[in-house]
Amino acid sequence: MQALESLESGVRMYSRSLPAVFCRACGSIMLTEDGRKIIDFLCGAGTLNYGHNNRRFKASITDYLASDAVIHGLDMATPAKLEFMDTFYSVILRRRNLQYRFQFTGPTGANAIEAAIKLSRKVTGRQNIISFTNGYHGMSLGAIAASGNRYYRKASGVSLSGATFMPYDGYLGPDADAADYLQKLLSDESSGVDYPAAILLETVQGEGGINVARKEWLQSIQAIAKSAGALLIVDDIQMGCGRTGEFFSFEFANLSPDIVVLSKSLSGFGLPLSMLLIKEECDAWQPGEHTGTFRGNNLALVSATAALDLYWRDDIFAQGVHRTGEVMRHRLESIAAEYGNRFSVRGRGMAFGFDCGAPELAARTARTAFEKGLMVERCGPVDQVIKFLPALTIDSETLNDGLEIFEHSLDEALKQTRPS
Ligand SMILES: *Cc1c(COP(=O)(O)O)cnc(C)c1O
Repeated sequence: MQALESLESGVRMYSRSLPAVFCRACGSIMLTEDGRKIIDFLCGAGTLNYGHNNRRFKASITDYLASDAVIHGLDMATPAKLEFMDTFYSVILRRRNLQYRFQFTGPTGANAIEAAIKLSRKVTGRQNIISFTNGYHGMSLGAIAASGNRYYRKASGVSLSGATFMPYDGYLGPDADAADYLQKLLSDESSGVDYPAAILLETVQGEGGINVARKEWLQSIQAIAKSAGALLIVDDIQMGCGRTGEFFSFEFANLSPDIVVLSKSLSGFGLPLSMLLIKEECDAWQPGEHTGTFRGNNLALVSATAALDLYWRDDIFAQGVHRTGEVMRHRLESIAAEYGNRFSVRGRGMAFGFDCGAPELAARTARTAFEKGLMVERCGPVDQVIKFLPALTIDSETLNDGLEIFEHSLDEALKQTRPS
């Protein structure tokens, strides 16, 4: 642990809030070097939707490695890549009547967001990207320009340009319609808002505090994008791959985005893999116009294919996510109800936020939870929301144990907070 302080940059983050050395992990449990078992409700911020070291398809990776198959080949064709594309097409796209081309980008979510933004500018010949309050899209300059958080924006060190922020669903309170506001600004020749290349959004804002957009709002935004001649980009990096109880988080609203951005849980195993889904008419790229060394890593494509094969060939897995999500909602709402209307619970599928109202209480609760054996992180504008992203494969006993630890931790944190 001493190496962290003396050798690792001050930028380190999770090793501060989760002070332990983690040596093994399986399913929803992480083991620390000193023998503690920690229930994981963070899951790599949504990267481990199928849990750690999923035994049901881990062998796909070890077999691939053992066979001397190609690991790195830039974006050359390999059987692993062809099989992934075939599987994604038949298991995910065809079953949903969706037609997209694949673009494998560099391995991080931010890489893929950059590509999406760049492509929308190329397609439309416009520059402006409409993004939303509390949105989060990554740390590279194009992505951070479209992200709301002031702390992160400030750290970029240059003026960030090219994005205009609009209020997300609910941001203006229950009585104002944020979509009407956007519509008005885009249709008014004198509003000061340039015609956008794209409207970029998350259907549930992950880092922004688990803010859930309504179906009607999402549909309005899609219609507004269309009438403004802008592309609709859905950032499904955190909420995609099953987190909301459907493979794509926008299925419930019947959206048809021009570009979909996938990363985090796409490889299914925590390996880096990012991809854009692009409508054919928007695929304006010339060969090599957007390139990169690590695109479509073969090992990650192999595990991604295995995860799709295992969990998405029918609706059983998705139905399980809905059921487990309802258990979570019920439990979190009843915890909130014990304390009157002080706290709010938000979420969809198996992504939930418990809004503690104050960052101190959320911090104390998360810290206490970690001491008791539960890993949760915070999100929201001032980190006042406790975020629950358990593995979609979690068993009900571990889920209940984790929720119970949360309940006790909140209770203890409140007692510490109360003036004596
Ligand atoms: C994590 C995340 C990103 C950025 O992905 P990185 O791999 O960290 O670059 C972008 N958008 C959303 C919604 C995310 O959750």
